[in-house]
Amino acid sequence: MASSSSSSRPRKVLVLGSTGSIGASSLKVARDIPERMTITGLAAQRSVDALVAQVAETQVKQVALTDAGAARRARELLPPDVEVHGGEQGLVDLVRASDADMVIVAIVGTAGLAPALAAIECGKHLAVASKEILVMAGEAVMSAAAKYGVDILPVDSEHNAIFQCLEGDRQSEIRRILLTASGGPFRSLPAEQIAHVTVTQALKHPTWTMGRKITIDSATLFNKGLEMIEARWLFGVPMSKIEVVVHPQSIVHSMVEFVDNSVIAQLSHSDMCFPIQYAVTWPERVANSLPPLDFAKLAALHFEAPRTDVFPALDLARQAGETGGTLPAVLNAANEMAVDAFLNGRISFPRIWQTVDTVMQKHDIVHHPSLDQLIAADAWARRACSDL
Ligand code: NDP
Repeated sequence: MASSSSSSRPRKVLVLGSTGSIGASSLKVARDIPERMTITGLAAQRSVDALVAQVAETQVKQVALTDAGAARRARELLPPDVEVHGGEQGLVDLVRASDADMVIVAIVGTAGLAPALAAIECGKHLAVASKEILVMAGEAVMSAAAKYGVDILPVDSEHNAIFQCLEGDRQSEIRRILLTASGGPFRSLPAEQIAHVTVTQALKHPTWTMGRKITIDSATLFNKGLEMIEARWLFGVPMSKIEVVVHPQSIVHSMVEFVDNSVIAQLSHSDMCFPIQYAVTWPERVANSLPPLDFAKLAALHFEAPRTDVFPALDLARQAGETGGTLPAVLNAANEMAVDAFLNGRISFPRIWQTVDTVMQKHDIVHHPSLDQLIAADAWARRACSDL
């Protein structure tokens, strides 16, 4: 996945989705290791006040806001020497204009795809949190990265863990990748109660504090399903070698089992600053102020199989990942629409996976799709969801 090594000079980093949960953690990492990470650009959708505060802190001179009204307001509020790019194209313009050598893609959903591809074409390395872009267009992103010789570094904690377990190029020796899952808030909820869970209950993640969309994805297990497809592209392994194991403490972030039956795992507290920092300082490790693990206090690490009968998201994602073509893009878009409908009180919790399943079954799969065909499949899935 990653081909070239970084040097120990500070990384100049552009953060797309800077006002979100990963974005805030990225700024925290920059504060913690300023000698290794300088933020040189920020982008969000419409959180003007948060972005203005981040500009004051980081002193960046380039930002983007995709919401045109928010971009106008930012121009009024920010000093005149700060360039504000507006609209969806503003993200791509910002990437092209930026002097950053790494772009952290932490935009929820697939809006990060175009700027990610633009960054690759400009020779900027990517640290990818937005798993949706790899689910939708993993092949296009990975082949563009190979063509332009840029590194794709995983920020998702599980994939960052696997990346660390694989240091030393052990790809050919992998027997299976074991993605750990917290199990979400409904891990032990009796099956008959799942239909009645509320948005408030689904937004209460037991171990991680994250944005709303990924928190709901964790409750349905679609997050883990998306991560299986993400892992397939990041590590070049078939879906059949990717398994999920539930680990409620979220201390073991993932594991790799090798052909000799040895397992290597990566452990840390559940704080996204760990994987963000490793993506930025890779291949080096840098001292920080994050808390170490105290094994005496951990007491027990628990593992169990996921309840795929109650949460069908994993099977749907496996089906999409194994079939390939446009199906993963359809799964991803239908899930985004269904999560939005659930968050807005329009559908029940189980309707999320029922909607995804129905839309996937209706889809005429295009194999080996072009980028335009992927974008068309994404749009078709969103329309099909609206019709439902
Ligand atoms: P949040 O909802 O907290 O933040 C989303 C960010 O994306 C905000 O800055 C938001 O801006 C911005 N954004 C949303 N839509 C657009 C758009 N169309 N154009 C430009 N910016 C946009 O999400 P998270 O930080 O939780 O997640 C971000 C990504 O990282 C997701 O793909 C998620 O799956 C992934 N991830 C998150 C983890 C976490 O711990 N949070 C862990 C692993 C992966 P605004 O504030 O203006 O709306």
